[in-house]
Amino acid sequence: MIYDVIIIGAGPAGLAAGLYASRARLNTLILEKEKAGGQIVTTDEVANYPGSIENAGGPSLIKRMVDQVDEFGAERKIDTIKEVELEGEIKVLKGEKDEYKTKTVIIATGAVPRAIGCPGEKELVGRGVSYCATCDAAFFEDMEVYVVGGGDTAVEEGMYLAKFARKVTIIHRRDELRAAKSIQEKAFANEKMAFMWDSVVTEIKGDGIVESMVVKNVKTGEETEVFADEDDGTFGIFPFIGFLPATELFDGIIPMEGGYIKTDEDMKTNIPGVFAAGDVRVKSLRQVVTATADGAIAAVQAGKYIDELEGTGYAGDSK
Ligand SMILES: Cc1cc2nc3c(=O)[nH]c(=O)nc-3n(C[C@H](O)[C@H](O)[C@H](O)COP(=O)(O)OP(=O)(O)OC[C@H]3O[C@@H](n4cnc5c(N)ncnc54)[C@H](O)[C@@H]3O)c2cc1C
Repeated sequence: MIYDVIIIGAGPAGLAAGLYASRARLNTLILEKEKAGGQIVTTDEVANYPGSIENAGGPSLIKRMVDQVDEFGAERKIDTIKEVELEGEIKVLKGEKDEYKTKTVIIATGAVPRAIGCPGEKELVGRGVSYCATCDAAFFEDMEVYVVGGGDTAVEEGMYLAKFARKVTIIHRRDELRAAKSIQEKAFANEKMAFMWDSVVTEIKGDGIVESMVVKNVKTGEETEVFADEDDGTFGIFPFIGFLPATELFDGIIPMEGGYIKTDEDMKTNIPGVFAAGDVRVKSLRQVVTATADGAIAAVQAGKYIDELEGTGYAGDSK
């Protein structure tokens, strides 16, 4: 079968693209390597997506997006795309499970959390180190937690963690936060929040579970080892220090800037029939609202591309 549109990634951008493509009766497949939702399912609070109701978190927002996409008939499959052949009228995507053919591709692979990159971090992921507060906060009920970073996400997720932990310390490499002032004010007013300024984590240690970490003061060079409370035996470390675009598949094929895919305002890449949407592309604001907008534009443009290619009118029927 040759699809009209294949979307790689079922985050907000991919799901919005799937909605617009399937509503336009394009024969649409959304490929996702994990469960649908992307980064936003890792947060319990989405206060800035227009129309999102009070206390609605990422998972409930995504559930509604997925239901809508399913209702309009987009097909969804779990597969990790490993290789792409994008030149030519029929594009081929090679996944771990299957191979897929399509007239257009919408790249909505988003981004993944940036690791600290210090010794011990990788080995202790899921054993005290976590990149998802919503997923793992409950494991640290009444324990100590350290958040690394100073932007909006770090501070917001820190405050979420403070609902569970007895103390949350934000470790930030500078002497002031980068987060929006309104977020900072809430954090400073929260009695459970503490701050370790001018500091970076240089090593995480533990035998199967986080037991201590080394923190370096970037101004004085002094290194301090922070140990788990004896009664707790461990503590949590949550790095929120930015993201890495998931673009390695397109290295050398599509022009990028800082690892992000370059598009025009119609989400077109350099390759006819190949579009990119959401956090994966060069843009000034990476949020759900911009990801969904990108997805919608990409899907409409994919429809126009097929229409121009085939001169068949704005609907696909390639089964
Ligand atoms: C903790 C946290 C809190 C946030 N809070 C907010 C907020 O309050 N408001 C807001 O607007 N935004 C928030 N964001 C940002 C928002 O989540 C992102 O801007 C948005 O998710 C981007 O959507 P996307 O679809 O472009 O990419 P992503 O959400 O990154 O989704 C990409 C998807 O592609 C899949 N994928 C990647 N590579 C492949 C492959 N090779 N094959 C198959 N599938 C693949 C991934 O598994 C993933 O599901 C937050 C992000 C985080 C991490």
